[in-house]
Amino acid sequence: GVGLSSYSVPEWKKDAFGKTVSFGKRSNLSIQEQRQSLPIYNLKEKLIEAVNKNQALVVIGETGSGKTTQLTQYLAEAGYTTKGRIGCTQPRRVAAMSVAKRVTEEVGCRLGEEVGYAIRFEDCTGPDTVIKYMTDGMLLREILIDENLSQYSVIMLDEAHERTIHTDVLFGLLKQLVKRRPDLRLIVTSATLDAEKFSGYFFNCKIFTIPGRIFPHVVLYAKQPESDYLDAALITVLQIHLEEPEGDILLFLTGQEEIDFACQILYERMKALGKNVPELIILPVYSALPSEMQSRIFDPAPPGKRKVVVATNIVEASLTIDGIFYVIDPGFAKQNVYNPKLGLDSLVITPISQASAKQRAGRAGRTGPGKCFRLYTESAFYNEMSPTLIPEIQRINLGSTTLALKAMEINDLLSFDFMDPPAPQAVSAMEQLYSLGALDEEGFLTRLGRKMAEFPLDPPLSKMLLANVDLGCSDEIMTIIAMIQTGNVFYRPREKQDRADQKRAKFFQPEGDHLTLLEVYKAWKATNFSGPWCFDNFVQSRSLRRAQDVRKQLMSIMDKHKLAVVSAGNNYTKITKAITAGFFFHVAKKDPQEGYRTLVENQPVYIHPSSALFQKQPDWVIYNELVMTTKEYMREVTAIDPKWLVELAPRFFKAADPTKMTKRKRQQRIKPLYDRYNEPNSWRLSKRRG
Ligand code: ADP
Ligand code: MG
Repeated sequence: GVGLSSYSVPEWKKDAFGKTVSFGKRSNLSIQEQRQSLPIYNLKEKLIEAVNKNQALVVIGETGSGKTTQLTQYLAEAGYTTKGRIGCTQPRRVAAMSVAKRVTEEVGCRLGEEVGYAIRFEDCTGPDTVIKYMTDGMLLREILIDENLSQYSVIMLDEAHERTIHTDVLFGLLKQLVKRRPDLRLIVTSATLDAEKFSGYFFNCKIFTIPGRIFPHVVLYAKQPESDYLDAALITVLQIHLEEPEGDILLFLTGQEEIDFACQILYERMKALGKNVPELIILPVYSALPSEMQSRIFDPAPPGKRKVVVATNIVEASLTIDGIFYVIDPGFAKQNVYNPKLGLDSLVITPISQASAKQRAGRAGRTGPGKCFRLYTESAFYNEMSPTLIPEIQRINLGSTTLALKAMEINDLLSFDFMDPPAPQAVSAMEQLYSLGALDEEGFLTRLGRKMAEFPLDPPLSKMLLANVDLGCSDEIMTIIAMIQTGNVFYRPREKQDRADQKRAKFFQPEGDHLTLLEVYKAWKATNFSGPWCFDNFVQSRSLRRAQDVRKQLMSIMDKHKLAVVSAGNNYTKITKAITAGFFFHVAKKDPQEGYRTLVENQPVYIHPSSALFQKQPDWVIYNELVMTTKEYMREVTAIDPKWLVELAPRFFKAADPTKMTKRKRQQRIKPLYDRYNEPNSWRLSKRRG
């Protein structure tokens, strides 16, 4: 069989402060004993006192010290829940769900009772919920509806160092709100060294430090740069498993596909090693993983076995898994990055920052001294990685943020009190909103824009949904949006690819992938939402059930605003037109040479081989997103008639020649807008109407 010798062995260089260490034993404490053993436990009274005395408070502490799970409970015990809810935001959905679940176990209730969570399209709270975990995006939506957040007595902006766009906007809004509501308490927590900056921003508030309890960990670097980090990482996992003392392994990878692939390879290699090696329990972790699977990562490995957790950035700071002694850090993460050329965001694999690398290394040796294997050189760490992460506000498209702020009558994005100013790209977000008809020529929200802001969707999607109310196909568009949002509809196991492809092809619609997704949903609905049907058709039932939820939520927002839900029946032209109304930025025209060119930037792009239109290659298409793998592929492609562009996006396309945009005209119109935004303090935060 295959042995370790058949792998090339990466060589490691010990860091200067590294020392070989012996390994501790795993703890076997009851849940209450675990709580009491956390570093935060002895500081309970001091923390409560600090919150009582300070309206805003920055709390700093090592990851795993108990900030997220304990602080909320301490405040509840101290009586804060009698005055309102305790809200705690998380940058990531998975973290909100997982942490809430853990706290229910500690409190001894069920999710949705005293403790609950809310994430986009999923509200797991009830009338009794007093400790509410949620994504920062959800709190932002709540503040849009109630600018005083009157339900809450405490808001904890957790993991603030992640600097998501939502947290950054909340910073600004809450800074205003604490002035209006002297009874509200604001806690900002962070795992790293941003304390001074956060405190400075929040009126020089007090900083409370929870002393850490970390064991020394050894950091090892690759001697040479790795050309294939995935392979190097997998070899390292096996080496550790076979040669190192007990302790679980954590491997950081960038996303679901990579993680599933890595787990598969690990599984096969372990199988090839035979029965004489100890069992390795392989656990993937990423946000789309069902929650039953996610809770398994916390289960300790049984004696004599070792577990390896293969995870995205989620485990960098938001989640803490005890028993990890070995961390493998390839040095990459997927980041949402704005592509100014295309005017949209895309997920790109980028090198992490030094701060992230340190945070990752710290995951080893939380409960005993551990080792971190960096799959990059020491010189790369010091010379190629930036010290800290660039905040999202300076790297992503601000379309939906702009819309949300405008709906709160904060019209001037550029002089809003952000901790760090947005990148100049904020301006192109306004241009996009103008083209969609959400802003008028002066940059104020139109009636359409106001409605768009009510939907928790990116502006092109909400436009698509609202445009179709007039076009008379809102029913179908809701399904299509729900299906796009859930992603990963089709299941394509390695060993049954042909069969899966045949099944998928049966759903193909001549118009393209959007309608193919609609067809899948309709077929599933016709079987009364059957699970076995999904299995037979290589469709992910989990994705479809989620789509069903998203649809329900969209439906209730439509109801609330008395927007008609109408079906187009068999008139698919209406539906493709509605898609065009939202996604006209994403038009591509067939290139006589090969593939397609985007209209906006003339960039070469291709139809993805899994698309319903891959064989047909129509002249004009609209796509939902671009994904870069071996080529720049368009995902979810639909054929369109170019005449629709002028009809549906007159602010963007010239009537005479739909292939030309009225770019100069657009700029002339938009230009005065920018100048207005440069006036200092012209923004206001006034009472919302109605
Ligand atoms: P912090 O927010 O300071 O990073 P947490 O409150 O998230 O810390 O975690 C405190 C401790 O609670 C962790 O060290 C871990 O031992 C335990 N813990 C947290 N979540 C879970 C979980 N889902 N299952 C088991 N233990 C958990
Ligand atoms: Mg935390």
